[in-house]
Amino acid sequence: MQWVGHWQKQPDDPIKSGMTGFQDDLFPRRNVAPRAEVPAALWEKLARSAFRRRFHLNAQDRAYLQEKGLSLVLEHGQDFIARRLAPASPLKDGRQTPWKGHPVFVAQHATGTCCRSCLAKWHALPSGRCLSEAEQDYILSVLAQWLARELARSQAPGTEA
Ligand SMILES: [Zn+2]
Repeated sequence: MQWVGHWQKQPDDPIKSGMTGFQDDLFPRRNVAPRAEVPAALWEKLARSAFRRRFHLNAQDRAYLQEKGLSLVLEHGQDFIARRLAPASPLKDGRQTPWKGHPVFVAQHATGTCCRSCLAKWHALPSGRCLSEAEQDYILSVLAQWLARELARSQAPGTEA
């Protein structure tokens, strides 16, 4: 749950307090808070991959994340996981996750949760069968922790977000 800590520490954000209203009203809030355990070894393994570690949120992704809030962004993530990864044979598997356009997409490439081959390779989740609720929650937990780390990184003293 360490990511919640980072998020709650957010100072008053003018964009967040002023503009989040209307779109949220269109969707029921589910208050997404994944709770699965993510082994520390995963972050060490990802940090050793030259390909995975080059992914970071850009200014636009960070602004989006700060405006919408982590919970809502994770709600999108939950939906991407359910529709694009969880089926036994996802549509266009291997190409279903865009390179940019949403913070969760970037997080997926950074963490090897972008397609079923990467899930098999990095997370030992076998291809060819549906992902369980618990497995989907684990993926969301990985994404949540990565996003929280990226936010913490951009909010470090002396860094302009
Ligand atoms: Zn992949």
